[in-house]
Amino acid sequence: MSRDLIIIANWKMYKTAREATDFIEHLAPKIEGCKSKVFIAVPFTTIASAAACAKHVGVAIGAQNMNDAREGAFTGEIAALMLKEAGASFVILGHPERRQIFGETDELIHRKLLRAIQDDLQPILCVGETLVEREEGKIHEVLKKQIVSALADVPEKDIDKLIIAYEPIWAVSARQTASFKHVQDAHSFCRKCVEELFGKRKANRVPIIYGGSVNANNVKELVSQKDVDGVLVGGASLDPDTLSTIVQNCEGIR
Ligand code: PEP
Repeated sequence: MSRDLIIIANWKMYKTAREATDFIEHLAPKIEGCKSKVFIAVPFTTIASAAACAKHVGVAIGAQNMNDAREGAFTGEIAALMLKEAGASFVILGHPERRQIFGETDELIHRKLLRAIQDDLQPILCVGETLVEREEGKIHEVLKKQIVSALADVPEKDIDKLIIAYEPIWAVSARQTASFKHVQDAHSFCRKCVEELFGKRKANRVPIIYGGSVNANNVKELVSQKDVDGVLVGGASLDPDTLSTIVQNCEGIR
């Protein structure tokens, strides 16, 4: 089954609203006509202006995190409905930096995912092992636990909205990409986990993208792997010329 390629830029805590609109205006003509779907996960304060600017160029704008509650006395937090109203169409959940630096647990990520679905934001679920877990041979164990826990209680009809991002923690912001074989094996295993939960037909439709030091040189080979349906790009997505080259380098693969 053929799945579209998806390229998600994760800007982390970079770029003001003004910088974001300049970026999108610069990027737009360079990716015009390209077949991949392009998403940009921007800082909260940038969502409204980036979404207004990106509306006409077919680029989706989303957030990098959200709270699991609909609303409440949670100082400094942000709710899915607020992101949606600002113009976000998706949200990254369980990013390695959220898990590692901010101590997000599988249980919290599960609650966030249910909330995102309820409030109509497309969830991008990040999963991946640490270096120690990899060295201990626990990759499958970790991926299965993260996927099963995150997707518990998700209604079958909503699984079509999901994108999974395999992000081995040791490869994020590391200038070290996982080998193509490692990535394909991990993606195929993630798909198997989804299949065990929701059946083959649904599992074959879920896009599974790779993140971890993706750049313009390695993207083509990464997305040529059978179960790799795109990439999540951090550092290399901060420059519009580099991001457009990444998008262009994916042309013709699917
Ligand atoms: C990321 O932010 O999810 C990421 C993969 O970062 P980088 O591409 O810089 O490794």
